[in-house]
Amino acid sequence: MIKGESDDSYNNLITSVSNQINSLYNDYITKLYEYNNSTSEALDAMEEDNKVKATFFCLVRESEIDSLLPTIRTIQTRFNNKFGYPWIFVSDEEFSDNFKEIIRDKIPQNVSFGVIPKEHWSYPDWIDQKKAEEIRNDKSMSGIPYFNSESYRHMCRYESGFFYRHPLLNGYEYYWRVEPDTQIFCDLDYDVFQWMKDNDKKYGFTLTMREFPATIPSLWSSTQTFLKENPQYIAEDNLLNFISNDEGKTYNMCHFWTNFEIAAIDFWESEAYSKYFEFLDHNGGFFYERWGDAPVHSIAVSYFLNKDKIHFFQEIGYYHKPNLNCPYDIDIWKHYNCSCIRQNDFTHRKYSCGNRYFDVQGLRKPDGWDKMAAI
Ligand code: GDP
Ligand code: MN
Repeated sequence: MIKGESDDSYNNLITSVSNQINSLYNDYITKLYEYNNSTSEALDAMEEDNKVKATFFCLVRESEIDSLLPTIRTIQTRFNNKFGYPWIFVSDEEFSDNFKEIIRDKIPQNVSFGVIPKEHWSYPDWIDQKKAEEIRNDKSMSGIPYFNSESYRHMCRYESGFFYRHPLLNGYEYYWRVEPDTQIFCDLDYDVFQWMKDNDKKYGFTLTMREFPATIPSLWSSTQTFLKENPQYIAEDNLLNFISNDEGKTYNMCHFWTNFEIAAIDFWESEAYSKYFEFLDHNGGFFYERWGDAPVHSIAVSYFLNKDKIHFFQEIGYYHKPNLNCPYDIDIWKHYNCSCIRQNDFTHRKYSCGNRYFDVQGLRKPDGWDKMAAI
């Protein structure tokens, strides 16, 4: 071996090891700093005030700031100015100081910004990245939303199995998931988090939808394989009939639209969900197909929870393109001072799964719902 060559490789090794140590150290300090300076302060305050430990949680790209600000505004004015919960914003990239300043200016409560740990937003080693890329490039799938997107897949996998492990969420019991470009339309005159806790609810939603079957060809069969091996996780009084029309033989594509969620963090941390996510993740469908966090969350919620733990927040009035939840029940619409048009409500329409949800839960549908079901 030529002398210089071995020196070079030794130096490269040292540089690479010290870079790795530096990066680990920086990550650690960043997390510690973020945690100590905001989250724990917010948690202490909630502890002192005897409040439920809850927070808004928003995964967002810095570039979406212009559609994020109106969203923050509606939530603040319709709910949070009164109840004062903190906010957490995370991204796969560091937010700029400018972004942080603008957001802090709009939210008087405690606000934290976090970076997603690399290992939560990258390929696990059992994924064949070449194969994943070839699948994304399949021209015959170009009509399916986001089918060719790599980042969308990381996002869906993150929202399925990792968001609740973000260090900034340590110590919290409930979160409200927020996305940019969404709105709420009604005055919430009660504390939704306290309500979740008092009523022992684990999962709350506003809209239901049907999934594109081409994004999840093997999700149902994988789920059934998992459940055959782990029948102990199936709740006795579950909501299976919401997601299946034939007692579990097939998936009917119904799901809670997860861009809005008010839920308990301990559900995702439960053994049932952790094992389920791990099983799905090893199957590879987040990358080889295009599994969304909505069907994954919804299948888990429907199988692992008793149905009285699940709640439809109709009075929140919520819009995420192109669907609106506006309380169709006129008394609710009036009581909560909603500024949306009831006739545009999606809940009871044909392509929503709202009517099925009402039936499975034994809820009374509002007068006139059947007129909407024809649309
Ligand atoms: P859609 O609702 O399914 O059309 O998907 P969106 O584009 O709204 O993405 C869902 C959520 O994930 C939104 O809150 C986005 O801001 C966020 N998101 C999507 N992709 C990325 C990404 O690459 N980086 C970050 N930081 N957030 C993302
Ligand atoms: Mn969205």
